[in-house]
Amino acid sequence: MHRYRGNGSDPAGLAAPRTNPLRKEPMPLLSPDTLAHCELCPRRCSADRAHGGRGICGAGGTLKLARAALHLWEEPPISGESGSGTIFFSSCPLKCVFCQNHEISTGNFGLEVPEERLVQIMLELQEQGANNINLVTATQWAHLLPHSIRAARARGLTIPIVYNTSGYELVDAVAELGDLVDVWLTDFKYASAGLAASLSNVADYPAIAEAALAQMAREIERRGGTRFDDDGLMRQGIIVRHLVLPGHVADSLRVLDRIWNSVGDVPISVMNQYTPNAAMRRQGGELARAVTDEEYERVLDHADDLGFTTMYWQQGGAVDESFTPAFDTTGVLSPAIAPTARRGQS
Ligand code: SF4
Repeated sequence: MHRYRGNGSDPAGLAAPRTNPLRKEPMPLLSPDTLAHCELCPRRCSADRAHGGRGICGAGGTLKLARAALHLWEEPPISGESGSGTIFFSSCPLKCVFCQNHEISTGNFGLEVPEERLVQIMLELQEQGANNINLVTATQWAHLLPHSIRAARARGLTIPIVYNTSGYELVDAVAELGDLVDVWLTDFKYASAGLAASLSNVADYPAIAEAALAQMAREIERRGGTRFDDDGLMRQGIIVRHLVLPGHVADSLRVLDRIWNSVGDVPISVMNQYTPNAAMRRQGGELARAVTDEEYERVLDHADDLGFTTMYWQQGGAVDESFTPAFDTTGVLSPAIAPTARRGQS
C-alpha cells in the first residue's frame, strides 16, 4: 500500500509560490531568467549566475559537463545490457565530505558547452544504444532541462529520461519536471539533520529529501504509475537509493523508515559501495573504512522487515578508486567510444 505524505508541514516552505523580485508575476522556477537570482536548489543562495556570479554549488552561467557515455553498472532496470546514457553535470549543491566524484562536485571540473550540445549528446547516446538518458546531478542546471529535453524529443529522442539526483530538490522543481522526467533515481542519504549537517553541510536534507520524494511519487502516480518494458527496463517510476555509511547503520535504518512512512513500497537500492576518499583516509575514524558485511546485512534485514518488495543490493563492497569513472570530458565535445565501468553516484 502506498502512503503519500503531503508537504504542507514542511518547515522549509517548499510549496511557496515562486516569484522573481524584478517581476510582478510569478515565473516558472525552471526558466532561463532564474539565473539572475538563482534559487534552483534548496540552498536558495540567490547567486547572480547570469552576470558572472557563482553559487554555493559552484555553478556559473554557462552549462558545464564532465562526461557523457554509456554506463553499465546502474541498477539492472536502468542499465540493462546495453547501458545507461549517463551525462555527468559539473558542480553540486551538496558538499559531502566523502564524495567520490569530488573533481566535479567541488572541483567544478568540466567543459563549458552551449545548451545545443546537451541536446546533441542525448541524441548521440541514444544512437549508441543507451536504454535511457541518465542526467547525473543536474539540479543546478535544471533551468535548461525543459527546453533541451523537448528539443531532443522533437528531433527523435524516444528513450526515457532518468533524473539521477542527491534527493536535495525543491518540490517546485520536481513538479515542473514532472512531465519530462520518466524515472526518478533519487538518493535518500540521511534521516538525521545533525548527520546531514556534519557530512554534507545541509541540516535540512532529511525534510527536503522527504518532501521531494513525495512529490516524485505524486508525479509518477499522476502519469499512471510505474511501468517496465518487456526487457525489464524501467520506463517510468522511482528507485530510491541509499548508500550505507560505515558506523552509521542506525541512521540508515531511520532512512528506510522515513521512505516507507512517506511513500510506502517503492523500489529501493541499498548500496554498500562506500569507499573512503583521500580526505577521509587522512582524517581517520569510521569514514576511513568500508562498510562491514554485518552492517550491510542489518540494513538489508530492516528493509525486508518493513516490507519493501523490490530491493536492489550489491555484492562486494568498497570499490577501488581506479574504478571511478574518468572525468576526462569523454563524450562532452564528441561522442564517446567505450562504456564506463562503475555505478554512478549522485
Ligand atoms: S543551484 Fe547553486 S546557485 Fe542555485 S541556489 Fe542552489 S547553490 Fe545557489
